[in-house]
Amino acid sequence: YAAKSRQCGSLIYHAQLDAGSQESLSLLTELRHAVEDNELRLFLQPKIDLQKGHVVGAEALVRWQHPTRGLVPPMQFIPFAEQTGFIRMLSAWVLSGAARFAREAADAGLALRLSVNLSTRDLMDQDLPAKIEAMLTPLQVAPASLCLEITESAIMDDPERALSTLEHLHAMGFKLSIDDFGTGYSSLAYLKRLPVDELKIDKSFVMAMERDLDDARIVRSTIELAHNLGLSVVAEGLETVKAWAMLAHLGCDEGQGYYIGKPMPQEQFIAWAKSWQPPDTSAVTTESVIA
Ligand code: C2E
Ligand code: MG
Ligand code: MG
Ligand code: MG
Repeated sequence: YAAKSRQCGSLIYHAQLDAGSQESLSLLTELRHAVEDNELRLFLQPKIDLQKGHVVGAEALVRWQHPTRGLVPPMQFIPFAEQTGFIRMLSAWVLSGAARFAREAADAGLALRLSVNLSTRDLMDQDLPAKIEAMLTPLQVAPASLCLEITESAIMDDPERALSTLEHLHAMGFKLSIDDFGTGYSSLAYLKRLPVDELKIDKSFVMAMERDLDDARIVRSTIELAHNLGLSVVAEGLETVKAWAMLAHLGCDEGQGYYIGKPMPQEQFIAWAKSWQPPDTSAVTTESVIA
């Protein structure tokens, strides 16, 4: 943890080093206020169908508009929120925001699926499925309009319990996705048992695939693996038109990344989606990866 906190260069992250200290107590108080005082912001990053070129959804990514520190990225407070259990309140906030946004988009004529990140603690919460359902019903948002992203490590913390929550959520109609696929330590035996619909190829592979043939092969194999298991596959970290062309050629279903659009305040998303035009990739060469 010490190494990671220095790496992040974050005062906030550092506070967890001595949990129970004055600093971490005050961070917890600040986080509570962040919810009450409306300092959390829901940012949305587009997900595009790489075969057809249209917008299919968005991933909800939280930010904290801190009164003195500015816009704080999630990696500077999510780990702390996870450690203290505050993550459940944060996840509820994000889930309800995403559901309300799905309703708003539908009313504007855009059928979007909203992806939300869940943490280990959320998966350990047996009441989570019922809580989410209670949130969606008054909004008349179907469970299939939400995709819940879970990392391999979150699942492997307590695989049996995670599996039971995931089966429950899946039976209710929520879409489930494995985030950062290829970086965790889950096994293919687990992958086979998990009721998931989607794999998200970690951005480290996607961002490197144009210059590193091994990364390109990993991306290609993951797309094949997903399809062979009947899963949809999303590439995150799509940063160039060439990456788009390569992924589309390899049959990747969806893409997400800075080339398409950075995470943006939710208020901007509908206008962005309406003006979105897919790139013309006919002149882009992709031979290197396919070989
Ligand atoms: P993630 O779920 O894997 O989300 C994707 C991250 O990759 C986002 O970072 C996004 O901005 C970034 N990204 C997307 N496309 C590109 C690209 O083309 N290039 C590069 N360099 N980066 C790209 P962000 O928003 O900083 O979030 C980081 C992580 O924080 C997320 O990774 C997720 O694990 C966590 N997180 C964010 N919001 C939430 C939340 O509401 N709840 C939970 N539990 N975790 C969250
Ligand atoms: Mg994610
Ligand atoms: Mg990811
Ligand atoms: Mg990540």
